[in-house]
Amino acid sequence: MSVIAVVEHRVLIWSRLRIIGAGMRILPALFLGLLLASPASATGLIEYHMHMAPEGGARRVALTFDACTGKVDERILNALVENNIKATIFVTARWLKRNPAAVATLKAHASLFEIENHGAQHLPAVDEPRDVFGLRAAGSADAVRSEVSGGAAAVKAAFGTQPKWFRGAAAEYTGSSMALIKGMGFRLGGFSITGDGGATWTAAHAERAVSAAKNGNVIIAHINQPAKPAGEGVVKGILKLKADGFSFVTLNEGF
Ligand SMILES: [Zn+2]
Repeated sequence: MSVIAVVEHRVLIWSRLRIIGAGMRILPALFLGLLLASPASATGLIEYHMHMAPEGGARRVALTFDACTGKVDERILNALVENNIKATIFVTARWLKRNPAAVATLKAHASLFEIENHGAQHLPAVDEPRDVFGLRAAGSADAVRSEVSGGAAAVKAAFGTQPKWFRGAAAEYTGSSMALIKGMGFRLGGFSITGDGGATWTAAHAERAVSAAKNGNVIIAHINQPAKPAGEGVVKGILKLKADGFSFVTLNEGF
């Protein structure tokens, strides 16, 4: 797909208030992700989707987990460690503070886990005063900036690494907040498919969704909801993908 086609497609999707695309960087065609159409977002905001370009004959997916607030889902964390499965974990400063044992586990398996920025206080990175899926948005450009920089500082403090990707709470944005986040040097942590419906799905539903992943998909799920049934299904889905021969890459490896 040519760069012009990509731009035209993005304009089309913009008009539907939702973007599905690869990274914004202009790279050789081989490395451009695939662009797919989708229904308009229910919130009227932009949901950023991305998909890894095929690489040789190997089938691969990128697992991404949000650690929003609350606790850690050890069913998922232990399954990843025990099965040597790589994942990208988007953490907030709030979650890091409350889960020192999980942080220690993530650090002890640094070759498996890429730690990225999910914000300081889990406020949607939306620069308008409004609610997004029941969460109060950051509400202004300055507040989005603090959310992003506060999350990055917390990752640096806990892990000694500088996050390269940012995913806001609820993973919804405005065009101007996306530009602001990119201007701060972060890539947007989009996704291709939802694995757990915000941890609200039944185990069976989550298992079906995760195990239906296709080559190149970026899966979004949650690793902070140990009491919800969804996590059990996420683990089953991941193990099915592994048994099917999929390999697992982090976002930095896949993009
Ligand atoms: Zn979240």
